[in-house]
Amino acid sequence: MHGAPPRGGGASLLYGRPQAPRTLPIFRGRRHAGARRTLYNPGGNLQHAKVTVLSESPTSIGAAAPIAAETVIIGAGPCGLFQVFELGLLGISAHVVDSLQHPGGQCAELYPDKPIYDIPALPVCGAQELVDRLLQQIKPFKPQLHLGHEVVEFARRADGRFHLATAGGISFDAGAVVIAAGLGSFQPRRIGIAGAEPWEGNAIQYRIKNAAELAGQRLVIFGGGDSALDWTLELLSKAASVTLVHRRREFRAAPASVARMREQLAAGRMRCFEALPHSLIVEDGALRGVNIKSPDGAIEALPADRLLVFFGLHPKLGPIAEWGLTLEKRALQVDTEKFQTSLPGVFAVGDINTYPGKKKLILSGFHEAALAAFAVQHHLYPQKKQFLQYTTTSPVMHQRLGVPD
Ligand code: FAD
Repeated sequence: MHGAPPRGGGASLLYGRPQAPRTLPIFRGRRHAGARRTLYNPGGNLQHAKVTVLSESPTSIGAAAPIAAETVIIGAGPCGLFQVFELGLLGISAHVVDSLQHPGGQCAELYPDKPIYDIPALPVCGAQELVDRLLQQIKPFKPQLHLGHEVVEFARRADGRFHLATAGGISFDAGAVVIAAGLGSFQPRRIGIAGAEPWEGNAIQYRIKNAAELAGQRLVIFGGGDSALDWTLELLSKAASVTLVHRRREFRAAPASVARMREQLAAGRMRCFEALPHSLIVEDGALRGVNIKSPDGAIEALPADRLLVFFGLHPKLGPIAEWGLTLEKRALQVDTEKFQTSLPGVFAVGDINTYPGKKKLILSGFHEAALAAFAVQHHLYPQKKQFLQYTTTSPVMHQRLGVPD
């Protein structure tokens, strides 16, 4: 698909000067310390998918054989993480899979800095702080977190167990499944210009699979958040040229990153435009660049070998809708005793489920996880007598929590 030919006029160059790439310090900081990664690489970057092993035992990632699991939890949002805790108290282990590269779901992805005021006994708690606290709380249960992996396959096996597989080829043989997938799997927002699709994944990238292959390339980076700024600063020393394009003058990224980017602009090491992507420039079957459109409607042609697009992520229910489980308004129908879906052995907690009176609150998801854990236990070990024990007084719970009696 050929893009519109470059025309006269110029998109508004915010702080441009001819570029002279040179070695620059690599940005390594993040707004949010702790559990989050340093350079954000959104979505299921399968080659580089990260496994956070909170367990001492080795993970079988990459092995062809399915991972045998007592329970697989789909989604590492607050409810998926708390599900680990509630299962752990009952002596049940869990593998947790999330398509994001970091745990925390919406809290970490959509509003990490915002305060939450309705978590019981915490009058105020930052959203990322809540995730960090949950990770701390589940540590005794040594869950294995498979991050950067979207679960795309699900099937009930003839023996009553469940087959699950990720797009990256990890498979599980699970006794029970808890779907804590929230609003769905976070997917990158796409560039949104005609003819982009054939180039996506190669000349147009939404996640950096291999930064080394961008060396010596002319890069146009779209976006104004942390990912766009982090990668701009990271790649400046490696690329032939870097041009940053953002739809507004103001950037959402960490102020320190914005300040460092402005220094590079002032030194003429990169260019920056206030504009939107308009059309692709394709010649002889190769992507040669992109036309951008400034707020006054002017079109500017930017030569480029690669377009790196960081417009953020949005959740999509995705494959879960195809698994044959009963849905109501794109949520999984569950009962309110077990939080079981229409398929015995498959449970759903948090924002992904629906039942009369459902409220999409973290608090509700925590309650659901507590009851679902007992139901999972009964599904896995129907002969086992169930009784409620208090974490305050139960020696068994203390042992599981690693608390000395
Ligand atoms: P999520 O947090 O959505 O996590 C689901 C996870 O599942 C995601 O990480 C996703 O990547 C993963 N996933 C989905 N599908 C797949 C798949 N196929 N394979 C692998 N992984 C998958 N709630 C409150 O109680 N109090 C508040 O003050 C509050 N404030 C909010 C403010 C904002 C701005 C927003 C957006 C929400 C707020 N909420 C609040 C709602 C709260 O964040 C959600 O109720 C909560 O995050 C739901 O948790 P969850 O674990 O069910 O799902």
